[in-house]
Amino acid sequence: MSGLVDFRNIVAGRTVEPRDWFESIDPYTTTPWARIPRDGAEQVDAAVGAASIAFRKGEWAELTPSKRGLLLHRFADLLAERAGALAAIETRDNGKLLVEARAQLRYMPEWFRYFGGLADKIEGRMLPIDKPGMVAFTRREPLGVVAAILPWNSPLQLLSWKLAPLLAAGNTVVIKPSEHASASTLAFVELFEAAGFPPGVVNTVTGLPDEAGAALVAHKDIAKIAFTGGEAGGIAIYQAAAAALKPVTLELGGKSANIIFADANLDSAVNGVVAGIFAAAGQTCVAGSRLLVQRPVHDALVERIAALAAPARLGDPSDLATQVGPIATEAQWSRVNNYVDIARAEGAELVLGGASPDRAGWFVAPTVLTGVNNGMRIAREEVFGPVLSVIPFDDEEEAFELANDSPYGLAAGLWTTDMARTFRGAERLQAGTLWVNSYRAVSYMAPFGGYKRSGLGRENGQEAIEAYLQTKTVLIDPDARVANPFSIR
Ligand code: NAD
Repeated sequence: MSGLVDFRNIVAGRTVEPRDWFESIDPYTTTPWARIPRDGAEQVDAAVGAASIAFRKGEWAELTPSKRGLLLHRFADLLAERAGALAAIETRDNGKLLVEARAQLRYMPEWFRYFGGLADKIEGRMLPIDKPGMVAFTRREPLGVVAAILPWNSPLQLLSWKLAPLLAAGNTVVIKPSEHASASTLAFVELFEAAGFPPGVVNTVTGLPDEAGAALVAHKDIAKIAFTGGEAGGIAIYQAAAAALKPVTLELGGKSANIIFADANLDSAVNGVVAGIFAAAGQTCVAGSRLLVQRPVHDALVERIAALAAPARLGDPSDLATQVGPIATEAQWSRVNNYVDIARAEGAELVLGGASPDRAGWFVAPTVLTGVNNGMRIAREEVFGPVLSVIPFDDEEEAFELANDSPYGLAAGLWTTDMARTFRGAERLQAGTLWVNSYRAVSYMAPFGGYKRSGLGRENGQEAIEAYLQTKTVLIDPDARVANPFSIR
């Protein structure tokens, strides 16, 4: 007996006995708490094989779209019942605050209800074809087996963004969660069988990027890869997919600008800035890590942000009063600390936080750096931790230029009471999501994704389902007229 909790994969509706294990670490205690199967090419092949069979023949392939939608609704109901238990597993596994994990889990069923509702509204079109006597129409068809590859920061939320539309469209899936946070996914997928999904529709593999991850990406029977994660992994996956001519959706990182004008409601702006960078200890892809502040309010705003963030309660993420939990992995914790050192060496001034607080564990206190210019590494590279870089600006033109001068374009925040400026920002800011006088709100109804190096494709909203469909054109000559075989009709 290892004393650890064992989680197992599900393939073809059955629990799989692993060939090997690796340990998952509780970021709060920094000790192992669970064992996760360490899969390789053989396990990946079995999972893709099961998904492939379920896609091509049998119950799932024959289900009407309305029945498919109904299964998604049933799953949503079960998910709502199990939300609390799943949130607790996620908190243990990746150190996410239980308050936040619970809020995400409570909201998550809506993804399955929304896309369940869309399942029987996927329509082809009659085409007004210019060939006399011919009938032409399109069919919207699923792609096949999708590989869903996930990061560690919000495993179940980001999984749901992929699963709900891909299942509604009629695909099957092999999920590979992050090696740092697999447990909640393995508990979550148990609910599919209980909801009545046929075996083989939802399968999982777990393990390391260069083992299970690489085997999944390279598998010939994968029709599409939907990836959320870091830039390096995204590029490697895009390259592998290019060689096999497979479509991808990539949700990658960001260096999002949160822009505060002097005319903004500063009380709200301060809250928005703190939520944007210090919630989830900054481990969110949309972190508002570049704070652009108009000079007249710069000093006052920095002071107020520091005053709000300084007393934030660091501690056990399962304690509902904790406000900043640990960083999820030791490597990431070192990386965040290293970025603070780099920024200081480049001339930034530390006004709050900085080095790890005086306590055990992988904690980083809310950190604020001023005197940053947009060319410094701290302003250009994603830190993925609670580190805010403050950059002053004089006027709107400069603010928008600075915001857009980034390799990334995932999100932006704009704080102003000037209506005309709001619309100018909506037009000019290069970001997949723009929040005006708010930050971090996401919805199953609202498309989400990156401009520039922040990714390819969109999740959420009606267009998300398009990412899991392909179009077939059908041309029929009801009279079967014999045409000249040597000339195109
Ligand atoms: P990561 O890229 O290290 O890993 C993500 C997943 O990909 C893991 O399951 C990993 O095993 C797998 N993987 C990595 N390289 C692979 C390869 N070459 N082949 C096959 N599989 C591979 O990302 P992470 O560190 O877990 O997550 C943090 C990153 O995710 C940050 O950059 C963050 O911005 C990004 N993120 C983006 C979004 C978004 O929606 N845009 C949301 C959350 C996180």
